[in-house]
Formats: sequence, structure tokens, C-alpha cells
Amino acid sequence: MPNLPLQSEYERIVKNSERLFKSLEKSSKREYALMLREVRAEVATAYAQYANADGVLTYAEMQKYNRIKSLKKVIDDIVQNRTNNVKARMTSVLKEDIQLSYATSMAVIGDVAGVALPEKITSDAITTILKKPVEGWTVSERMALRTRDLVVRIQGAVTNGFVRGDKVQDAAKAIKGTVEKDFVKFRSFAGDITHKVSQDAVKESAIVAGNEGIHTTNTWVTAGDSDVRDAHRLLDGQTVRGDEDFVIPSGPWKGYRADGPGGFGEPALDYKCRCWLVADVIKS
Ligand SMILES: [Zn+2]
Repeated sequence: MPNLPLQSEYERIVKNSERLFKSLEKSSKREYALMLREVRAEVATAYAQYANADGVLTYAEMQKYNRIKSLKKVIDDIVQNRTNNVKARMTSVLKEDIQLSYATSMAVIGDVAGVALPEKITSDAITTILKKPVEGWTVSERMALRTRDLVVRIQGAVTNGFVRGDKVQDAAKAIKGTVEKDFVKFRSFAGDITHKVSQDAVKESAIVAGNEGIHTTNTWVTAGDSDVRDAHRLLDGQTVRGDEDFVIPSGPWKGYRADGPGGFGEPALDYKCRCWLVADVIKS
């Protein structure tokens, strides 16, 4: 890992972003737990009403009078409602993350340059960062896909239980497995995106500082442990002008470019990236 003059200041941005992610993780975990409880309650009610004397609820029984269709609709509503809450919380956390990362970076650049730079990011710039596609999708599109996927998976788990002739405990277990698996994936996605928007805000601060006549550099810094992928190890310590891209210098990904961590548009290079930027002021 390089040792740069403003390294600890920029590390603070990473830490703040991680703190915000933790709060998002906590509140979304709560929503997932409520989602699980609500879906299980609906399924338990169906069992209480329609299961046979052995506690088995068959698919044939659930096909009567549109019961399966109504249950699927209720599951859809529950998942939509809970993921809407997750999405709202996520949007507010990402905005705060962007504002804080930008303000911190601008304050540091301003201090070093000895000028007062605007520390408030414009709402247009926030929107641009939030709408920047990751692997082709915006955060909001990705969340819509995730919700759709989760609805279909839970509905499938429930339906499959009827087909198998599960008892209510087995049905509850299948639903729990599906919801918990999705939460693990959501957490990973949310971790990546909170880190990425924070780094995008740092990048934006360098561009705006440049427009204000304060020219900066950005240096790519890895997490410095054995989990860092080879392509990023090759970037460790690479310094570019504030508005320039980083380019992988050698190896199988030679020539791939990114404006910052998470910005390659290539899952193998972006997924779970913990790299971060450290700016410095070019003294003229
Ligand atoms: Zn990385």
C-alpha cells in the first residue's frame, strides 16, 4: 500500500461510508425479518384453513377457488411493501454517503490549496451518481429486478411445498431459507454500492475542484490484504489527474479503464471492490 500525504483523510471517507452501510444493513435486516414473519403468517393461515387431518396441504387443495392465486398476490404485496422500505432507506443512505464523501474531500482539497471550495454537492450531481449504471443497470432498476426475483422465489418455495405435500413447519423453513439467502445477496450488493457512490463522490469533488482552478491527482489504493484481486494490485499506487481514468497496466485485464473503484463495468473487476481513492493537490 502506498503512503500518501492525504491518505488518512481519505481513509476517513471510507470509514464513514462503512458506518453508513452498517446502518443500512441493520434497518434492512429488520425489514427482511418482518417480511419473513408476515409471509410465514399468511402461509400458516392457509395451512390452518385447508390442510388435511395429517397437517398436509396439497397443491390440489390450494388450486381450489383461486386460493393459490390469492396467496401469491398477498406474498407479492408483502415483499413489495418491505422492499419499498428497504429501497427508501437505501436511497437516503446513499445520498448522505455521497454528500459526506464529497464534502470531506472538498474540505481536504481546499485546506491543502488554501482556498475555500464549495463543500455542498449539487442535487444534479447526486442524481448523476445515483443513476450511473453498474453493469448496465441503475440502482433503482437493480432494486426493481431484485424485488421481482424475490417475489417469484418465495412464491415458488411456497408452491413447491404444496406440491411436495409439506407440513407447515417445512413450508416455514423453505420460506426462511429463501428470504435469508436473498438478504445475503442484498447485503453484498448494498455494500458494493455504498462504497462505489462514495468513491464516485470523491471523483466528482476532484472534477469540480479542477473547474475551480485547483488541479488534483487521484491515487488508487487497495485494501492491501490477500483478498485484493491481481488486476487491482497492479493498480495500487497508480496516480492520474483528477479527471482522468485509471488503466490496468498489464496482465489479462491490460487496458481496462475505470474512473474509480467499481467503475470498470465488468463484474469480475467491480464486484466486492474495496479499493479507494486518495487525492492530492498539484502545486503549480
Ligand atoms: Zn479493488
